[in-house]
Amino acid sequence: MIRRRFVIGASLSFAASSAWGQADKPLRFSVGGALTQGSLATGQAPPGSLVALDGRPLQVTADGRFAFGFAPDQAKAALITVRYPEGGGDSKSFSPTPRQYEIQRVNGLPQKTVTPPPEVAARIAREAEAIYLARLTQSNGADFLSGFDWPAPGIESGIFGSQRIDNGVPVSPHYGVDMAAPVGTPILAPADGVVSISDDYYLDGGLTLIDHGQGVSTAYLHQSKRLVKAGESVKRGQRIGLIGATGRATGPHLHWAMTWFQVRLDPSLSTRKPKPDPL
Ligand SMILES: [Zn+2]
Repeated sequence: MIRRRFVIGASLSFAASSAWGQADKPLRFSVGGALTQGSLATGQAPPGSLVALDGRPLQVTADGRFAFGFAPDQAKAALITVRYPEGGGDSKSFSPTPRQYEIQRVNGLPQKTVTPPPEVAARIAREAEAIYLARLTQSNGADFLSGFDWPAPGIESGIFGSQRIDNGVPVSPHYGVDMAAPVGTPILAPADGVVSISDDYYLDGGLTLIDHGQGVSTAYLHQSKRLVKAGESVKRGQRIGLIGATGRATGPHLHWAMTWFQVRLDPSLSTRKPKPDPL
């Protein structure tokens, strides 16, 4: 039995270890995903279970599916505890694999987007608050479960987590994947969801935010045209907008972001197929 548990544990994560040390008891839940810093994790527990992350209950679907995210700089393990409907439970910690982030210098950005003029400070604050509140949504959907497709073809011109120095000014890390493609290239919904924001923002340009359930959402920035409205349901593969260079951008590209509530995640780690070829 000890040996079997070891094999099960090893298949989940190299760094995982049991919280209660019951080495002879096989786990009845699983957690999958890249299990690195800045990645979305999804889990499966017996239907009717209560699932907690670090002692706080998570949302769980009727058939026992749940999600949580590892922050980009998360050093500590995530402790998942499952209480089974018939009694008893299991607990196990998952340590995210550390990542090395690069330093990316971007020059030629419109200076008013790197050091915005004081008169737009209120607008930027208002827009940041709207995004924060939209990401706080805890909807019952579980559209994130079937995995994500790449939303556009293109050259990956910016990678997740890079320390950004824009026009020589250090700004917040780059929490998204940039796909460079010509203006007008269609952007496709990577999974089903509900549009929570569709608007023109100062830094983000044409912005769409899609809620995929349980706090998982994806964002599409710098669009030249938005094709869906807030409140609208979208289907995987549906055209939601066109690539552009609006907001803080040097050229046409899609900035694709993913979050679990306010936790920034790398969407490329949740894709179910290889990246499409550039146009
Ligand atoms: Zn970007």
